Amino acid sequence: MKRTFLIAGNWKMNAGPTEASALSKEIASLWKDKSFSSEALICPPFVSISSVVSGFEGSDFKTGAQNVSNEDNGAFTGEISTEMLKDSGCEYVIVGHSERREYYNEDDELVALKAKKVVDSGLKVIICVGEILSDRKAGRAEKVVKDQLNTALNQLDGDLSDQVVIAYEPVWAIGTGETATPDQAQEMHKFIRSLLSNHFGTEVAEKIRILYGGSMKPDNAEELLSQKDVDGGLIGGASLKADSFSRILAIAESI
Ligand code: PEP
Repeated sequence: MKRTFLIAGNWKMNAGPTEASALSKEIASLWKDKSFSSEALICPPFVSISSVVSGFEGSDFKTGAQNVSNEDNGAFTGEISTEMLKDSGCEYVIVGHSERREYYNEDDELVALKAKKVVDSGLKVIICVGEILSDRKAGRAEKVVKDQLNTALNQLDGDLSDQVVIAYEPVWAIGTGETATPDQAQEMHKFIRSLLSNHFGTEVAEKIRILYGGSMKPDNAEELLSQKDVDGGLIGGASLKADSFSRILAIAESI
């Protein structure tokens, strides 16, 4: 079945409100008067969300967040809730990015609670999974991804194909310039789809998008996006330039 590509930019801790406003307007201007059938999304830092929502006004580009609290509201200093993100104009939330797992000790259980909170709020969730290099070298990549994904899926039920997106991001490929080969990506995406199928059934699993993330650039996007089970990209570095992000979207449109 044909799934709609999702091309998602993760700006990480880059682009405050002023820069985010200029960059989102530049991205939108590259597609002015041109429509696209993929979905395209930027996830800026929290403080820049409203700038990006405004910058994208009148375009088909969407806005997401890079993280969220697993709590609703109250005494959780420094946290941001799903309701706040909805109020700010977000449609998507990334959870479980490897940088959150590594630097902020987010474990599979916390990521799973966050994923459930996002889905319950009506927002769409991008659940990141992926192995570190030593796991891949030791032949444990599938086991790691299986544990990460199944812990999150255990919190989720029903036909959530509109609300759940998985991002496979081999940690050794994030921000390193190293990319998984198209075959490596396809092999893991196929495995992820089999896990989705075990949990949700084949019909729902076939509708869920699985993004590849890890040094995706205009130069390698076509071969990755052409893989059967690669339904888009989660793009860090290359989303910080309007031209390269836009070129990746154009490649998705051409496939
Ligand atoms: C990411 O931040 O999710 C990512 C894939 O980064 P990069 O494209 O820079 O490797």
